[in-house]
Amino acid sequence: MNPFTYKRATDQSGAIREVAGNANAKFLAGGTNLIDLMKMNVQQPAELVDINRLALKRIEKTPTGLRIGALASNSEVATNALVRENFPVLSEALLAGASPQLRNMATVGGNLLQRTRCYYFMDTAFPCNKRVPGSGCPAIPGFNRIHAILGASDKCIAVHPSDMAVALAALDAVVNVEGAAGARQIPIIDFHRLPGDTPHVDTNLRADELIVSVDLPSSAFARRSRYLKIRDRAQYAFALVSVAAALDVQQGRIGAARLALGGVAHKPWRALEAEKILTGAQANAQTFKAAAEAVVKDAVPQKHNAFKIELARRAVVRLLSDVAGVMTGGAA
Ligand code: SF4
Repeated sequence: MNPFTYKRATDQSGAIREVAGNANAKFLAGGTNLIDLMKMNVQQPAELVDINRLALKRIEKTPTGLRIGALASNSEVATNALVRENFPVLSEALLAGASPQLRNMATVGGNLLQRTRCYYFMDTAFPCNKRVPGSGCPAIPGFNRIHAILGASDKCIAVHPSDMAVALAALDAVVNVEGAAGARQIPIIDFHRLPGDTPHVDTNLRADELIVSVDLPSSAFARRSRYLKIRDRAQYAFALVSVAAALDVQQGRIGAARLALGGVAHKPWRALEAEKILTGAQANAQTFKAAAEAVVKDAVPQKHNAFKIELARRAVVRLLSDVAGVMTGGAA
């Protein structure tokens, strides 16, 4: 591990000033990903600014929904009564992630900023465009079972590892951030980036910006929402494919739909075309299969992950059927 300095921030503006003043400084919250990456020399910040004492842990009602502080732990959010009742997909997604010990430490802000678990990214013996821009992507000719089938580039085919972010994508969440230039809001759909030619840039957050909270708008579909995660083992594994779905169904017809997938792209993958197919249609197997086809229409498999296309198709049909309470004859 490289040497670094450590400072404990006591106020928000001081923390932002400190990070803004050092191009190689990072905010430290739960540390469940950053410290691992530092130990492996994947990331080498010169300064850590510990924000754990900042008052950013509250989960509170707002006139339009719910505001979750960036330092609320994954466990606190998953078990919060308001979250469970009004945004069940978020609770389910969080409980599907990591282990209880990690969920107790990991924060909402850190979860959004966690980095890919691409094997080559995490092993400094290999080149990697995300770690060292321009060095190459060994995953493309290499072993790529866990990699992307949607939105990848010839520079990077990594996937985003968060379950929580997939649920937030289906809930139209908004990320509130504050930096040296002031505060702004970033819709979750614009928060993470596709790799393009700059896979080393994961998000649209500026280096000095601190995530302070996440807003969830209330809606009828959010109350009827679920998360399905498919992985190699039942616990403590990242998604091969995951789906977050939210539906407002009235007399068998879908009034509003939200659909997002994880494990398939460099960012939580919001399935906008599928949502158009769902909205206004009858909630039945035919509709759900059409939506699933739209999700995978542009999928491009790598050598070892073509199975993800059929997995995504079946997972979408299964979860939409569960959320709508419709039998579809064993789609998955
Ligand atoms: Fe690096 Fe992305 Fe290639 Fe993985 S897929 S080796 S993260 S460039």
